[in-house]
Amino acid sequence: EHRNACEPEFLQAVTEVVEDLIPYINEHRQDLIDLKILERMVEPERVISFRVAWLDDNNQIQVNRGYRVQMNSAIGPYKGGLRFAPDVNLSILKFLAFEQVFKNSLTGLPIGGGKGGSDFDPKGKSDNEIMRFCQSFMTELQRHIGAETDVPAGDIGVGTREVGYLFGQYKRLQNNFTGVLTGKGIHWGGSYIRPEATGYGLLYFVQCVLDYNSESIEGKTISISGAGNVAYYAAEKAIQLGAKVITLSNSQGTIYDPEGFTLERLQHLGSLGRDLKDYTSKYASSSFHAKQNPWQFPCDIALPCATQNEINAEDAKKLVEQGCKIVAEGANMPSTAEAIKIYLQAKINFGPGKAANAGGVAVSGLEMSQNAIGQQWSPEKVDHRLKLIMENIHKTCVRFGKEPNGYINYLKGANIGGFIKVAEAMKAQGVV
Ligand code: NDP
Repeated sequence: EHRNACEPEFLQAVTEVVEDLIPYINEHRQDLIDLKILERMVEPERVISFRVAWLDDNNQIQVNRGYRVQMNSAIGPYKGGLRFAPDVNLSILKFLAFEQVFKNSLTGLPIGGGKGGSDFDPKGKSDNEIMRFCQSFMTELQRHIGAETDVPAGDIGVGTREVGYLFGQYKRLQNNFTGVLTGKGIHWGGSYIRPEATGYGLLYFVQCVLDYNSESIEGKTISISGAGNVAYYAAEKAIQLGAKVITLSNSQGTIYDPEGFTLERLQHLGSLGRDLKDYTSKYASSSFHAKQNPWQFPCDIALPCATQNEINAEDAKKLVEQGCKIVAEGANMPSTAEAIKIYLQAKINFGPGKAANAGGVAVSGLEMSQNAIGQQWSPEKVDHRLKLIMENIHKTCVRFGKEPNGYINYLKGANIGGFIKVAEAMKAQGVV
């Protein structure tokens, strides 16, 4: 613990996993103790940190820090997104990369775990500034990645536009059109359903949880946080499936609409950019709650889809007391450790991010397969495979997380289910 004392988010993510793994290993897999598999898994295979210098629109030099954490390549090339946000640091990227190893393993696809990004803040930057930053960032990153080495994707602050600029610079420097990034545009190597995949996959996972309890999603009230990529498509799929979505939010506040968003209302919200409160001028049933998160409003299902640690113990208590039965994480580690304890004590269904939001990286894996064989699959085919992958992840969680009283501890199931495959591969590949 002392080695990573300055990295609270990383320690939080590791603790969340090892609390389940240590008892399991002690009971079932003594062979992994001498091999120091866990000790090796918490140490990244490689961490790259680099200077990103670029010229802003006033011709002033700006300097940011870029990173790539190559966490584990036991079952495939490193795979995981790039995050551009001012609070990015090594602790946050190591937590995300560590989670990614388990998540990628759970998808059943041959992909290892990594994560990267920069403390660059895209908010308020012009399109040209974004492009110059991405080009400078990739000028260094290109020497460390490759279609069979490390395949980055998007995350907070990195969408199709940024992936485009990054890909353009990679191609220019390497003279090679290859699947080195996922989340590409549909006409230049991208996969159908990739933008929708994390949000849609989250809802497919929720459907599996409901099915398992012989319930249906129709008519259920759902609170969603965030209004970015994951939140938007989670809301879209939830509405399509007949649920009532009552909140969306961003760092400025929460929109609460007790009538529920329709697809048309959602589209309108999407067109507002970050000024969510303008929504209330068009829809009288709605209200804007500045600087507040959505967890004060009663719901059946909560889907945190914004960022880490956005549900604390107090929020979790409120959710449980007001009758919330499912929390499924679209974001990575949105629940604090104390919040998770409250869900598990109350025996509600808790789908951790590494299981519930794995749909995004799963379709990224499918994008890699399509690039490798020079094909593009139909949206129906990709969506079908996404659904199957989420169903399999749910099955794995049930298999390893079912407690004697029948309660499914999805967190434990995901931790153990994700771990075994990676541990076996590390064992087979010797001391590296
Ligand atoms: P986006 O940048 O598209 O959207 C992020 C959203 O979250 C925005 O609405 C943003 O609001 C809000 N947000 C960010 N930080 C905060 C904060 N501190 N407080 C309140 N709201 C905040 O990112 P994504 O939708 O891609 O990612 C969201 C989460 O999902 C992240 O945890 C990410 O790691 C995870 N994830 C994403 C995947 C993907 O495929 N994109 C895959 C798996 C997980 P604002 O604009 O005001 O900052």
